[in-house]
Amino acid sequence: MFNPEILKKSGPYEAEEGCLSLGGTRKTKRWQSIKVQYQNREFQTRIKTFTGFPAQIIQHELNHCDGILI
Ligand SMILES: [Zn+2]
Repeated sequence: MFNPEILKKSGPYEAEEGCLSLGGTRKTKRWQSIKVQYQNREFQTRIKTFTGFPAQIIQHELNHCDGILI
């Protein structure tokens, strides 16, 4: 997933996450459903909606792309 960008999000909830860059866990706000535009490994633009745990992981990693830890 290259150049990911969240286009739409819905269903806010409070999550508790850990991170390989931190000790312990922290609370953070996440969204149940996210619509993401990105390029795949062939650099073709794709738009896909993710929900649940995959959506939470993507939000965590996209925060890292913006220099944000939990
Ligand atoms: Zn992390």
